[in-house]
Amino acid sequence: MRAADISDDLTDVLATEEEILAKLDEVAAAVAADYEGKDLVLVGVLKGAIMVMADFSRALPTLVPMDWMAVSSYGAGTKSSGVVQIRKDLDTDLSGKHVLIVEDIIDSGLTLSWLLENFSSRGAASVEVFALFRKPDAAKVEVHCRYVGFDIPNDFVVGYGLDYDERYRNLRDVAVLAPHVYS
Ligand code: 5GP
Ligand code: MG
Ligand code: MG
Repeated sequence: MRAADISDDLTDVLATEEEILAKLDEVAAAVAADYEGKDLVLVGVLKGAIMVMADFSRALPTLVPMDWMAVSSYGAGTKSSGVVQIRKDLDTDLSGKHVLIVEDIIDSGLTLSWLLENFSSRGAASVEVFALFRKPDAAKVEVHCRYVGFDIPNDFVVGYGLDYDERYRNLRDVAVLAPHVYS
């Protein structure tokens, strides 16, 4: 595979891989303390959360089960519509479990607020959220997020699992996508 030159596609780097991994260690220490002795299960939201889940779960000091959900928020482009459809449901029963949803990014908050509503009917002992990134200025609904990695400006970002049209997910850093790429 020939590496494409994508330097023109990106503007500011908001978090380097090194900064992300350091943050995941910090959050993992907090989660390990908060959930000690509890039946914790991590639920990742595909596909954006794959990298966060991989690195965050391995930063935890104990074994932890992981499950995945795929949802699609209708609408192409760079904005979420809030109309959510389940593409792949969980494989496990959440009843009695302490669920930590692992998310790549909270933008409008619409997807997550829908997910939290959906999870509330599954009998979990608790449901909390860890989002690696959050855009406070983009919030359309308030979502309680117990653990946040980085608050970032209201720009469209890619890398570390985050895509634009399925590209850029395997970039190691997270950077702002230059508007000329999508406008
Ligand atoms: P929300 O419903 O909070 O607006 O965002 C839902 C999903 O849209 C996020 O979980 C993420 O997968 C995607 N998304 C939101 N903001 C961004 C962004 O800046 N970059 C990328 N690549 N995806 C985003
Ligand atoms: Mg996501
Ligand atoms: Mg996407």
